[in-house]
Amino acid sequence: MRPFNLADILRPHILNITPYSSARDEYTGKEGVFLDANENPFGPVLSGNNALTTFNRYPDPYQSAIKERLAPIKQVRPTQIFLGNGSDEPIDLLVRATCRPGVDTMLTMPPTYGMYEVSAAINDIALTKVPLTPDFQVDTPAVLAAIAAKKPKIIWFCSPNNPSGNLLSQEAIRTVLETAADCLVVVDEAYIDFAEAGTSWVSRLDQYPNLVVLQTFSKAWGLAALRLGMCFASEEIIRVLNKIKPPYNIAAPTQQLALDALQLEPAKDRMVAKILHERTDLHEKLLTLPIVRRIYPSDANFLLVRFDEAKAVFDYLIDHQVIVRDRSRVILCDDCLRITVGTAEENNRLIDTLKQYRVSMATTF
Ligand SMILES: *Cc1c(COP(=O)(O)O)cnc(C)c1O
Repeated sequence: MRPFNLADILRPHILNITPYSSARDEYTGKEGVFLDANENPFGPVLSGNNALTTFNRYPDPYQSAIKERLAPIKQVRPTQIFLGNGSDEPIDLLVRATCRPGVDTMLTMPPTYGMYEVSAAINDIALTKVPLTPDFQVDTPAVLAAIAAKKPKIIWFCSPNNPSGNLLSQEAIRTVLETAADCLVVVDEAYIDFAEAGTSWVSRLDQYPNLVVLQTFSKAWGLAALRLGMCFASEEIIRVLNKIKPPYNIAAPTQQLALDALQLEPAKDRMVAKILHERTDLHEKLLTLPIVRRIYPSDANFLLVRFDEAKAVFDYLIDHQVIVRDRSRVILCDDCLRITVGTAEENNRLIDTLKQYRVSMATTF
């Protein structure tokens, strides 16, 4: 295949777009009389301590303070980082930058995260789906055949995969990165903090110009409400995303709180360790239940569990105010529920409720 040339992958008009030039682009100093952005000079309409914030000013459009702090943690350059309003924003920007509506296609490997397909649908992009194998691994020969036949613009890997929970084979991803050297290869690593150290693809960005890695503050960092997603790629790719993003895509409170979080990485690591401990404990307890048929190995903060009658178990759990995710209608996930690892108390509540399942069924009839 041809070597990677970003200009060949981008929609032609994207190359020529002049990005919105914000007031904050023209002067980046902090001192001065700011009469450039039509802000309210008196301050924010807020009470108490909130009134002391500078929320009357537009936030840094490129979030440079966060990137300076994040870069050494991820061992990348700040210019290899794009931050989005959740991972959903870079997902959508990557699609819009590369795929022509009604013309181009992308490749996904179901069962996987739903946003790739939603973003494809919104942008009128056809999907080529190559299912994972029954043990949720990449069907490499089928993927390579589909790439050759359909020439997708983007190939989406999710590793650890949602909803199966497992890391995808490093060898399979490497083969696709090297064989499909003229496609964008995205590895969504939303759950990478829960996987074995050294499995992230972020360390290999300089080796693969077609590689894009997505991570998020929503899972291990416990900051789902902030809506902050990370995208790591070559400087060339990051420049394109910066060019087409909404100018002030990350709100100031989100930026402030993310900066705070990044100084507390050890606290994140301790929470991850606790979740991994609970994952093992939950796994063992679920195994003792006669209604559980199979628990898939997990590198994430959830377990995919096959039950005798998943839909009935799901409804029963809802009736008892224990909410899990019903994946039983998803390809390769028949009779499966996806269960997030909670606190010890939450997991015990789940287990105790499940123990009563047969009992309560018997009294129903
Ligand atoms: C949860 C999740 C995300 C995170 O999305 P955000 O928009 O960053 O909250 C991304 N990818 C996968 C596979 C996920 O499961």
